[in-house]
Order: sequence, then structure tokens, then C-alpha cells
Amino acid sequence: MPTQLIKLEDFKDLKPIECPTRGMINFPCVICKECDIGAVMLTFSEGVLIETTVNSVLIHLSLDIKDNQAFEKQALKALKANISKIVPYVQKGDWEEGDLTIMITDEKKDDETMIKHINNFLVEFQIEWRKLAIEANRMVRDWSERIAKQISLKYFKELSDQRR
Ligand SMILES: [Zn+2]
Repeated sequence: MPTQLIKLEDFKDLKPIECPTRGMINFPCVICKECDIGAVMLTFSEGVLIETTVNSVLIHLSLDIKDNQAFEKQALKALKANISKIVPYVQKGDWEEGDLTIMITDEKKDDETMIKHINNFLVEFQIEWRKLAIEANRMVRDWSERIAKQISLKYFKELSDQRR
């Protein structure tokens, strides 16, 4: 099990360079991807794809999506939307469905504590995700069984009695 997916050195070269295409100070070129300075460097290891540009980095953590693909993707999407409201590093959108993406810009490149926290979250979430997905699947199954019973009792009582 890897304990370090990202480290401070991964971000040391980030600079507060203005994106010439978007024209705003510190616009993240890893989002722009169109401008002359926005060349993207890719590295991949341990299920983590890192896209690096002059002023910003995206870290994509790929997650194990299984039993109920469409549902698990939807559950992940909802979870990311809520985490991103509290933790702005976490990106709401999907780059590829079934991943979790973190953005780090040059302003945060020296924040060792925050980088450590992000790393710990990524390491643990990669493992915890399966458990969370199983829990979400189970919650929907329990809910659907309960509602099915309520509906059959309310409208089709004689059928429910027969099944006993
Ligand atoms: Zn740019």
C-alpha cells in the first residue's frame, strides 16, 4: 500500500504566471490547456495521473467502480459535489468518470501541511472508496425493499398476505 502519492517536490516548479489565453492572473493553465504556456506534462503511477503545467497541477485518483457501475458513478459524483463545497481543492467535475480530482495552484505549492493532508486523503480514499460504494449500494437496496413493502401493503394487501 503506497503511503505517498504526492509530495511537496511535485509542485516546487509552479509559478504565478498569467495565462495568456484566459488573461486572468493565476488562471490555472491545467484547466485552460489551450494557451502557449499551458503545455501539460503527464505522469502516472499507483492509480494516480498527474497533469502539470506552469502554474497548476491536476491530480486524478482513479477509483475502483464495480458492482453497479452507473449507480456507483452517480454516488461518487454526488459525494464529490459535496466535498468540493467544503474542500475547494477537490474538483466537482469528472475528468474521466470514476475518478476524484484535486487541483493545486502555485499559491498553495509551499503549503506543506495542506499537501500532506491532501496526500493522506488520497491514499485513504483510494482504499476506503470500495467500502463507501458498498454502503451506498446497500442503502439503496434497503430503501427499495422498504418502499416496495409499503406500496404492496398500501395498494395490494391481498398479494402481500399471500406471500406470507
Ligand atoms: Zn493557459
